[in-house]
Amino acid sequence: MARIMVIGCGGVAGVAIAKICQNSEVFDELMIASRTVAKCDALKEKLAPTTKTKITTAKVDADNKDELVALINAYKPDAVLNLALPYQDLTIMDACLECKVDYIDTANYEPEDTDDPEWRKVYDKRCKELGFSAYFDYSWQWAYMEKFKAAGITGLLGTGFDPGVTSVFAAYALKHYFDEIHYIDILDCNGGDHGYPFATNFNPEINLREVSAPGSYWENGKWVEIPAMSIKREYDFPEVGMKDMYLLHHEEIEALAKNIPGVKRIRFFMTFGQSYLTHMKCLENVGMLSTTPVEFEGHQIVPIQFLKALLPDPATLGPRTVGKTNIGNIITGVKDGKEKTIYIYNVCDHQECYREVGSQAISYTTGVPAMVGAMMVVKGLWKKPGVFTTDEFDPDPYMEALAKFGLPFVVDENPTVVE
Ligand code: NDP
Repeated sequence: MARIMVIGCGGVAGVAIAKICQNSEVFDELMIASRTVAKCDALKEKLAPTTKTKITTAKVDADNKDELVALINAYKPDAVLNLALPYQDLTIMDACLECKVDYIDTANYEPEDTDDPEWRKVYDKRCKELGFSAYFDYSWQWAYMEKFKAAGITGLLGTGFDPGVTSVFAAYALKHYFDEIHYIDILDCNGGDHGYPFATNFNPEINLREVSAPGSYWENGKWVEIPAMSIKREYDFPEVGMKDMYLLHHEEIEALAKNIPGVKRIRFFMTFGQSYLTHMKCLENVGMLSTTPVEFEGHQIVPIQFLKALLPDPATLGPRTVGKTNIGNIITGVKDGKEKTIYIYNVCDHQECYREVGSQAISYTTGVPAMVGAMMVVKGLWKKPGVFTTDEFDPDPYMEALAKFGLPFVVDENPTVVE
């Protein structure tokens, strides 16, 4: 039996919390703590009649370490599941360190203010040394390894779908299908339609920052960076159909390059329709994706945050979104001296997710593995002092729990490869 504290109460947290409540045998007590406590209270009211898990709520500013420490010390959770934004990762890790409590998240750290000169110095050095220019990278969180070890606590980083499940898929493939893995293509296909001309499926600010940045992939021991959206492929996704997909930088590439011995190339592709790309380009061209504040009628406004206020809240897309997602890894390697390729993937139906927990599949495919990752840690199955990504543990119990809680997987041993 475990007591968990979830920080954040947005789209992903809504699903993870629903799944925690379906899993009262493991999580008998839950605190939902977020900036807007009314959202936590509303979720508690909805879920309390359906679960044996005892739910409490609290208001917390996760940018304030002292507030977090006071709350964690008062509630005494076994683990903290961070489902706020990547901006809060380090503050929450610092609070967990001080309170000696295990830490879990779904996305790696990036700063809210990318003009901060201290952060810029480190960022510019990293861009030069490693050769990719995404705002996020693992170095900030991997830097906690020794501190977490000394405190005897576990940090599980990036247990959403991608990153998260995609890294577990790679570890599972290595354990059961290959002696050595050489090529990994991670494909993220959203075949869903929400009916709006333009909306993002998760936090717009994080999403638009990610997809408007240059792409990059790992090849022969180094990063290759390319202009945004400049590598395009078509792929016929099982249960979804033919889609255009584009090469993006993505955080699990960094961890897999470190943890999969002998890997020669790792790429990440995400599907986008032409209308999404045209809207995004236009918003970028007029400066609406900028994170630099501008003065407007006496107020400081951050353009991308203002845009977020105009766009549909991803948490409200559930009832309108139809279609399926297909996310997985095409993996080529060697088994018993012979080359082979598999596609290991999950298909998730937006409307089925909505019927079950009131969300679309993007929040669902992130929220389920967030709960599963937290369960691995609190059950002691994935528990060792330090900070780790999901490819560094035994994939079997995680995969079993994923299937049980709504994300079954398929292994196709004769897939089409991506050129
Ligand atoms: P939302 O914007 O829907 O939710 C974020 C929540 O965090 C909101 O409830 C927000 O509060 C709260 N929050 C923000 N700042 C603070 C703060 N300073 N203190 C306390 N609470 C705060 O985001 P999503 O649910 O879409 O995404 C959640 C996380 O999941 C993100 O880190 C995202 O990058 C990650 N993600 C990971 C994926 C994966 O596959 N690995 C895929 C999709 C998302 P308020 O309600 O007041 O706004």
